[in-house]
Amino acid sequence: APSLADRILGRIRPPKPQSVTHAVNNVDLSIRTGEVVGLVGESGCGKSTLGRIAAGLIRPSAGRVEIDGVSVSDMDAEQARRTRLRVQMIFQDPYASLNPRRRIMDTVGEAVRIHRIVPPQDLDAYVCSQLERAGLDPSLRGRYPHQFSGGQRQRIGIARALAVNPDMLVCDEAVAALDVSIQAQVLNVFMDLREQLNLTYLFISHDLGVVEHLSDRVVVMYLGRVVETATVHELFQHPTHPYTQALLAEVPRIDVRGKRFAAIKGEIPSPMNPPSGCHFHPRCPFATDRCRSEAPALRQVAADHWSACHLTEAG
Ligand code: SF4
Ligand code: MG
Repeated sequence: APSLADRILGRIRPPKPQSVTHAVNNVDLSIRTGEVVGLVGESGCGKSTLGRIAAGLIRPSAGRVEIDGVSVSDMDAEQARRTRLRVQMIFQDPYASLNPRRRIMDTVGEAVRIHRIVPPQDLDAYVCSQLERAGLDPSLRGRYPHQFSGGQRQRIGIARALAVNPDMLVCDEAVAALDVSIQAQVLNVFMDLREQLNLTYLFISHDLGVVEHLSDRVVVMYLGRVVETATVHELFQHPTHPYTQALLAEVPRIDVRGKRFAAIKGEIPSPMNPPSGCHFHPRCPFATDRCRSEAPALRQVAADHWSACHLTEAG
């Protein structure tokens, strides 16, 4: 078995202002092998950018991604290729990433063939086993994407990702487009795979219920910065950052499933031109002059619990 992705670490500065990518600034995110990290925040906060950087789909303009302590940018081409396979991405809309004119067996088998993961004569059996693992009937492998439901298409996306033996899945709103009942099924697939394959997950979602259900640890982002991170229980029981508190306050504690973040007062400022000091200050009920001028650092507030707020620093 391949050694597991030990940690992904990025210290990232914003891309050029004309870039379409949202800025992610000085984020330092480590993910341990086998861990499920939920990444939450309003849209435009940089969650997807961070996920794509972790999956090697975007190169940070500064900073680095490390896997097993080795910086991806220091790897030779062959090492980088193999490393990219170890972190696979699952998207919100699998249909958009499935070629409508290709049978699903060809889609699932493509990277396997290109990267010679199994000998050509074993490809068909291998594809069948991947489909099965994702909960799909392999006898349907000659069909085309439009012949499947939304939930089944997401399973096709999962089978395609699994086929290259990843250590880690970056799931970007992977169940957001599905009906709630189907969401539960797909989430169960993710959790079963975690058990079976010791997969590591970066689970990006704006659904707090999903994140609470799945994650070991939660990272809260606001305008390109991590504002709070803690174990899931700690974060949901004792949120310390005013932004996290606002997010959680919008969600009734009973049955958070399927509930979305409601709007917090005030517009989300542009991530390209964020407010000075603490980016949250224009919307924060506790903001002081210091908040407007000085960016709070992420500080430890309890075991496994870090928060970036001048208030928590003061106790
Ligand atoms: Fe609010 Fe100030 Fe804390 Fe930012 S640093 S969250 S503005 S109190
Ligand atoms: Mg997004």
